[in-house]
Amino acid sequence: MPKVLIVEDEEPLVMLLRYNLEAEGYKVETCMRGDEADLLLRESQPDLLLLDWMLPGLSGIELCRRLRSRPETERLPVIMLTARGEEQERIRGLATGADDYVVKPFSIPELMARVRAMLRRAKPEVVSSLLRAGDLELDRETHRVRRSGREIHLGPTEFRLLEFLMTSPGRVFSREQLLDGVWGHDVYVDERTVDVHVGRLRKAINRGKVPDPIRTVRGAGYAFNDQFAAAAS
Ligand code: CA
Repeated sequence: MPKVLIVEDEEPLVMLLRYNLEAEGYKVETCMRGDEADLLLRESQPDLLLLDWMLPGLSGIELCRRLRSRPETERLPVIMLTARGEEQERIRGLATGADDYVVKPFSIPELMARVRAMLRRAKPEVVSSLLRAGDLELDRETHRVRRSGREIHLGPTEFRLLEFLMTSPGRVFSREQLLDGVWGHDVYVDERTVDVHVGRLRKAINRGKVPDPIRTVRGAGYAFNDQFAAAAS
């Protein structure tokens, strides 16, 4: 389980990031001050660091510079989160050793994709691009989905929806949570849109009399059935 440390002082953002990272199967630690994060990172290192620019105690830029000067954190993957979008600031951020950079407000699916891409590059052993359950296989890298070896063509939304559900088997997501996680936080779509796409996804992955990997939980939402792997193999 890859470990991600979030160093950010905006509490609602920390909660949103924690929620989404945990939903993807990461172990999450958080810290709201730059100086505390500095001490924490001397003790133990995560697999990836999400680092805010403006922090109490010590700025993200300074923390990043310190991390790069110590052998144990020299290569730690760092994604900077910042409100500053100007080119000069961007260059400065990357010059202090951040590996990537997102400008607030950013889309959560976009950030998750960057986290995955960076971990895959830096720590291929901790992230697998292949999600597997029973006879169903989803490759995050090639965007291919197969059921019993047969290739399934999904639209981009159905693909993200299946990926999102497959990363947390058994967990029930409300339509609102699915909208946030799959469509993005600041996109306005009606909650019934979720039902439409779940319907399309089911139609594409279930041909004939096969177990349905998606469970409808009345009054709650949808889940990837954690019994599915046993039922389908
Ligand atoms: Ca801040």
